[in-house]
Amino acid sequence: MKHYLLPQEGAFYKANLHSHSTVSDGTLTPEEMKNLYKSRGYSILCCTDHEIMIPHHDLTDEGFLMLTGFELGFDENWRTDFLDAKVCDLCVIALDKENITQPCFHRTKYHNPERNSQICFDEAEPDFEREYNADCINTAIAKCREKGFFVTYNHPTWSLEHYEDYIKYKGMNAMEICNYSSFIDGYDEYNSKAYDDFLRKEQRIFCIATDDNHNRRDPACRMWDSFGAFTMIKAKELTYESVSEALVNGWFYASQGPEIYGLWMEDGRLHVECSPADKVVCTVNKRRCMSRYNEQTGEITHAVFEILKTDGFFRVTVIDKNGKKADTNAFFTDTLDVPYFEPEE
Ligand SMILES: [Zn+2]
Repeated sequence: MKHYLLPQEGAFYKANLHSHSTVSDGTLTPEEMKNLYKSRGYSILCCTDHEIMIPHHDLTDEGFLMLTGFELGFDENWRTDFLDAKVCDLCVIALDKENITQPCFHRTKYHNPERNSQICFDEAEPDFEREYNADCINTAIAKCREKGFFVTYNHPTWSLEHYEDYIKYKGMNAMEICNYSSFIDGYDEYNSKAYDDFLRKEQRIFCIATDDNHNRRDPACRMWDSFGAFTMIKAKELTYESVSEALVNGWFYASQGPEIYGLWMEDGRLHVECSPADKVVCTVNKRRCMSRYNEQTGEITHAVFEILKTDGFFRVTVIDKNGKKADTNAFFTDTLDVPYFEPEE
């Protein structure tokens, strides 16, 4: 019997879950950005402007959904020491369309009533004093989760954060396995190693890929930071509620280009159906990675992996001829109740 890891019902919707508009330091208005992404086949956009959460439901239409969110930053000593300062940036996305109250806000630091008259914050909540340390960051993550937000940990490479920094962060929903604007700028912002680090330390989080676009450069040039990394969300329908449900349940994969059409377990084997790839890789918690090729055609579109209960977790990466990758979320064998492969003695 097939056990689908990405639900069979519904449709895939292409999403950019991290972007910046003229509301903060981007150069396109939310409307221009929506039109641009829609014209390129996207269905979902979240304007995660720095420290400013403004709903853009007026831009939602039949074929396009705007999510509400913002990016909050914790920095070491940013203003005096920009080139060295470590940073922890989180994107938070409201899971309820009606939720327009910004969590973890500091009124005097971030609120400019002239510019940000639309901002709502909880008057009963004391100002949230941010410091760059794991305790403070974890408190913010917990508060945002408690207040109904989907929390992602962003671009560890650009942030100059290493294992000993990020491994202390707890309770996010997901991390950016790829952040395209950072990648464009020259950082090695494909973070599969960091993702495995979290998983191996029992942090059961998902992975997303985002543009984090600011669109400051010429759209025709190689440094244009849109359309390089996206998240494909499998939702019952294109509504705020269904997309939130898919986010919380991990019904999505992260990609720089390749597509994943199907992912299921059957009789102890993991099956992956994908766009033509050079190879398909399965990473597990142990030294038992597996890769699949098509020796005849050089193009693989269906890969099969034997999964052992003792593998702990498994996740798939599809790699195309240009080296672009699509990554599934990780699945844990102690909670995924399916038959596992039993090798003959
Ligand atoms: Zn950003």
